[in-house]
Amino acid sequence: MRDRNRNSRRRDEPQPEWIPKTDIGRKVKNKEILSIEEIFARGKGVLEAQMVDFLLPSLSEETLEIMNTQRMTDCGRKAQFRAIVLVGDKQGHVGVGSGKSEEVQPAIRAAAKDARRNIVCIPIGCGSWECGCKTRHSIPIEVVGKNGSVEVRLKPAPRGLGIAANAVVRKVLAAAGVKDAWSFSRGRTRNVYNMACASIKALDSLNSMRYVGDWKERASASVEKEAEKAVEKEDAAAA
Ligand SMILES: [Zn+2]
Repeated sequence: MRDRNRNSRRRDEPQPEWIPKTDIGRKVKNKEILSIEEIFARGKGVLEAQMVDFLLPSLSEETLEIMNTQRMTDCGRKAQFRAIVLVGDKQGHVGVGSGKSEEVQPAIRAAAKDARRNIVCIPIGCGSWECGCKTRHSIPIEVVGKNGSVEVRLKPAPRGLGIAANAVVRKVLAAAGVKDAWSFSRGRTRNVYNMACASIKALDSLNSMRYVGDWKERASASVEKEAEKAVEKEDAAAA
């Protein structure tokens, strides 16, 4: 709770104007590039955190963990804080990052910046055989992601099930905009950073495959509308 207050206070502060350092950054600022997907389509990455703020104004931020770390040096112990921050817009964009500093606030800020640079775009769809409604509420197929010792497996789930996962995976999926999914994890699941990274890697692996046509076709606006109508009819009939 305290962290959320801190974040909101920080957001209210006037931020210095962004002076892009990269070519892509300049194009984003000049509104030549209007989406994150366009950056990835050009084979480029998000090198400047401000690009994300520019392209995704509805991005929300959540601090997943703040840890005390200690290191021995010649002149004694050196204590630092390590923060893990999750960002997402609930519309298929999600990222996680870590940051370290001697104070809590700068650690969170560094982590938030890192999370923005690590942002990925994921296709949301419905691949559940129990549902098959074609609206964008789950993931299109089963995926696996690994980070460190942690392995996270995500499966499509029917509408209304919710996210059956541990707290960290649930937060990641919710930030990405996935409403229903099953999840299974292995390894040292207490490790928040590895859990979050593995979940994002699993979601990101959807980008390395192509469905017949494309994911977008599977959840295109018109198909989605029709499906939503059908669902509404079903619901009305049930009630
Ligand atoms: Zn469905």
